Amino acid sequence: MARNVYVEKDVCISCGLCVETVPEVFRFDDDNLAEAYDPAGAAEEKIQEAIDACPVSCIHWG
Ligand code: SF4
Repeated sequence: MARNVYVEKDVCISCGLCVETVPEVFRFDDDNLAEAYDPAGAAEEKIQEAIDACPVSCIHWG
């Protein structure tokens, strides 16, 4: 079973990095904040790359 991943939206600065690198999992919501709309949409390694690259470390497993 795929792990769940979520964005701490009140910390997201809308840089777009996660949306650009893993569009199968992340997208912008109506407020231009990132959200994980499909946590199972990509390999965990790919998601981990976005987690590690997020400039404000607001993407988390769980
Ligand atoms: Fe927001 Fe982080 Fe994604 Fe940038 S990488 S859009 S700060 S969640």
